[in-house]
Amino acid sequence: MTRALQTGAIDSARLTLMLNDLRLPAIKQDWPDLAQRADKESWPAARFLATLAEHEIAERDRRRLTRHLAEAQLLPGKTLDSFDFDAIPTISKAHVLAICAGDSWIDKGANLLLIGGPGGGKTHLASAIGLALVENGWRVLFARTSDLVQRLQVARRELALEAAINRLDRFHLLILDDLAYVSKDQAETSVLFELISARYERRSTLITANQPFGAWGKVFPDPAMTLAAVDRLVHHATIFEINVDSYRRRAALERKHKGAGRPQSYATIKDLDAVSLPDNQSPT
Ligand code: ADP
Ligand code: MG
Repeated sequence: MTRALQTGAIDSARLTLMLNDLRLPAIKQDWPDLAQRADKESWPAARFLATLAEHEIAERDRRRLTRHLAEAQLLPGKTLDSFDFDAIPTISKAHVLAICAGDSWIDKGANLLLIGGPGGGKTHLASAIGLALVENGWRVLFARTSDLVQRLQVARRELALEAAINRLDRFHLLILDDLAYVSKDQAETSVLFELISARYERRSTLITANQPFGAWGKVFPDPAMTLAAVDRLVHHATIFEINVDSYRRRAALERKHKGAGRPQSYATIKDLDAVSLPDNQSPT
């Protein structure tokens, strides 16, 4: 029995019901202990009230973060802390950390493209950036591009493509991992193009691809659509080119020749606004 109840000042069972009705689960759980402490330490009433409110807000933030982490479907263990930035000398960790704050680009619906050969760390970095953004309060969805395209194709067959694309609007950032692996028959419908168009200048998209833009022709039904899609993606974008040897292969080699040093690697960063299509290939 709580001391508050013992004093007879309030009906604690009724208070529990009221806090339930008001949807204040943290206060419902914490108030007896806090009330006891407040009585013991003679807190002013205002301090007691403020402490209860703080508990509820902290708990709400924690639940929101848990929910956003669950819905994001990020890859376990792929964090910025476990990412070796030294392996990609020209991607600055400071630049990536600035991107993880989100405000300057996600508010504008700008994009991020990670392009480079297999094993270079694109998927790891994409998921890690997603995690940092979720921790900073943004909503993110990580998806393998071909899985998402498949889901959107099903929606299209059910005449629900627009609704499906609209539902993705709740994510400030949509991570499309492995754009190049969309298969030919998936390309025959243009759901990916419609998704990219729908998000253009409104919601951000992060794309990883093994191949540069020139090879994206097989991902979209025709060349005009490919150009239009690339144009929308790069219009407001940051592009990281990760042209390094496979991290796995290098790690294995380094284990083998301990002390032999890292294999040569290079990478370049470009501001996406600087990437333009040739004049004779303006998109539709
Ligand atoms: P990609 O998507 O470019 O093919 P991945 O991100 O899947 O490459 O990387 C392959 C493996 O190597 C993953 O297990 C990843 O965690 C690891 N890896 C790649 N680059 C790095 C890095 N710079 N630091 C730490 N681990 C890395
Ligand atoms: Mg990958």
